[in-house]
Amino acid sequence: MLTRKNSKNNDELSILGFGCMRFPTKNGSVDEKASIELIRKCIDKGINYFDTAYFYNGGKSESILGKALSDGRREMVKVATKLPPFMVSSLSGAKKILSTQLSRLMTDYIDYYLLHMLSDMSVFDKMKDMGVIGWLEELKEQGVIRNIGFSFHGSGIDFEQLITAYPWDFCQIQYNYLDVNNQAGRSGLMLAHSLGIPVIVMEPLRGGRLADRLPSEVIQEFHAYNRNTTPVEWALRWLWNHPEITVVLSGMSDEAQLEENSRIAGEMQADSLTDNELEVYERVMKIIHEKTKIPCTGCGYCMPCPFGVNIPGCFSVYNDKYLLKEKRNKIIYIRTLGGLSNQPAYASICKNCGKCEKHCPQGIEIREELKRIKKEMEGPLFNTGLKIARRFMKVFR
Ligand code: SF4
Ligand code: SF4
Repeated sequence: MLTRKNSKNNDELSILGFGCMRFPTKNGSVDEKASIELIRKCIDKGINYFDTAYFYNGGKSESILGKALSDGRREMVKVATKLPPFMVSSLSGAKKILSTQLSRLMTDYIDYYLLHMLSDMSVFDKMKDMGVIGWLEELKEQGVIRNIGFSFHGSGIDFEQLITAYPWDFCQIQYNYLDVNNQAGRSGLMLAHSLGIPVIVMEPLRGGRLADRLPSEVIQEFHAYNRNTTPVEWALRWLWNHPEITVVLSGMSDEAQLEENSRIAGEMQADSLTDNELEVYERVMKIIHEKTKIPCTGCGYCMPCPFGVNIPGCFSVYNDKYLLKEKRNKIIYIRTLGGLSNQPAYASICKNCGKCEKHCPQGIEIREELKRIKKEMEGPLFNTGLKIARRFMKVFR
């Protein structure tokens, strides 16, 4: 397993990290025994970065990771977990969540602690005003938290503001060859790197979609170059070619995935792709671009919407529905567009003011597209479904 140095603290981190949200399952639920075995096999393969979160698998993810490390392996790895700002309404609430996390993880310190899905400055300011940021800094001084960071799924402009707003120890972004111009994107990656902030990458395969749901034209391009290189390998090698990336997280759910990913992670150095290989990626990105329904680049110039619509976020989920034949598109739509929080950002909250369209360099008829998205992604039972889901989240909290 190759490693890269965290330039801020000299931690030697495995370039492949384990994303603890897609554990093995049995009869529809997480298989705890198999998950613990898989985590331990990851460590044997040299993986030393494990990423979980307060609400992954309804809280089981942290507990399973804690159990897997409880046999003396805790010191061998770095544990990353996340505080969900959308579930925090007071400093005491945040303290309660951390205390639960430490207990689930059976540890008294967290190596990498993230504000989960920090979407924009308003959420960061809220955390600061509540005293959460100051409290995290105190915990860092005490050694309870070793590094403070955030994970991000918002627009390019929001990322630019957030990454420069605080001396972060690290950040975590969604990145892959499909997301070069989406969310933080390539410009966000480069900006973080230029600020000396290590970048952890999530969604390298877009939840598996770059593994098995690619358009046939893309597969043909890959095969024309080399029939033996799998789509997973194309996706991971592209990421590790970037020297600006420290760790790539993969939510592996079986040993075969672990074997394949760790084999690639044992070979792939930064800046090692050939010109011919880079040309394959360029052709693939061109095909994807041509098959994309709404030509949004995710630049974020249309933002902020005065009513809170996450315009590029709506377009991204909608594009995936067609490009990648994403079956869970409605769930992703709700989850990523604030459907479960008090800050909804989905298409139907658009008030048709037209402010956004004046700023779109792609000339997209944003209002018309949002109406189309509302019709296809929401439907008549949307609001009732959300009310039930929010009530469930409240009980869980
Ligand atoms: S037209 Fe809709 S999406 Fe655009 S700024 Fe106005 S409310 Fe927001
Ligand atoms: S809708 Fe236009 S301005 Fe807004 S993010 Fe997409 S391309 Fe940029």
